[in-house]
Amino acid sequence: MNQYQTTADLIKKARRVTAFTGAGISAESGIPPFRGENGLWNQYDPQSLEIDWFQRHPAESWRVIHEIFYSAFAKAKPNPAHLTLAEFERRGILKTIITQNIDNLHFEAGSQNVLEFHGNSRELICLECGNRILAEKMDLQKLPPLCKICGGLLKPDFVFFGEMIPEPTQTLSFKETELSDLFLLIGTTGAVMPAALIPQQAKRNGATIVEINPEESSYTRAITDVFIQNKAGESMQEILKAFDLLS
Ligand code: NAD
Repeated sequence: MNQYQTTADLIKKARRVTAFTGAGISAESGIPPFRGENGLWNQYDPQSLEIDWFQRHPAESWRVIHEIFYSAFAKAKPNPAHLTLAEFERRGILKTIITQNIDNLHFEAGSQNVLEFHGNSRELICLECGNRILAEKMDLQKLPPLCKICGGLLKPDFVFFGEMIPEPTQTLSFKETELSDLFLLIGTTGAVMPAALIPQQAKRNGATIVEINPEESSYTRAITDVFIQNKAGESMQEILKAFDLLS
């Protein structure tokens, strides 16, 4: 049996399957991850995403945020990895996706049960009055964008460095992890806390861990049971093909 067939077989036998996704699943959609050779941090200074720095230098931060998250993301479309996860959910096989991504591509692919651990870039939130507004309703040519109700500074509704993980998403993610007996880890290094603890908890609870990543991550030698060393798109399509042959 190859690793795609092994994974298909594990999916077939599993009681509850969860996928945990990171920036790597969106790399084939044209969104670069933060780390690695073509990573965003080779081009930009991560301080633009630190909450204190953002509040002190909103216009400067927003110029970087706009370029990364509202120009590049706007053109991105779901790739076969996102689409295959959505197909597994439609068939009642995949229960939940816990994603660290903020690019909306799981929802665009048709997935419904998605826990956005780091929030999302769809909405902006006012740091003064808490009002939320869809980013697409704002003119992001004028930066920084300001709240139409109180004039306060608007921030993307994703988690900046130095901010808490949103609730109830954090609690629901760890609950889901406890229930899962098969965990698909797709395109994540395991470097960002506390998200990095989720797969470790899954393993402690006895889940089988399948990892898909062209490179080894901090999980590979520590907790991974089946390591598919390949890109997410092709891997997920091969798993689906192998699954269909089992049915
Ligand atoms: P990361 O940038 O630290 O690592 C990306 C991982 O993806 C690496 O292990 C890399 O080997 C792997 N990878 C690269 N191409 C791949 C492919 N085609 N298929 C499968 N795997 C591939 O990403 P992270 O661990 O998710 O953590 C970084 C943080 O960055 C997260 O909190 C996330 O919110 C944020 N982020 C999100 C996006 C997005 O929303 N698309 C983009 C950049 C960063």
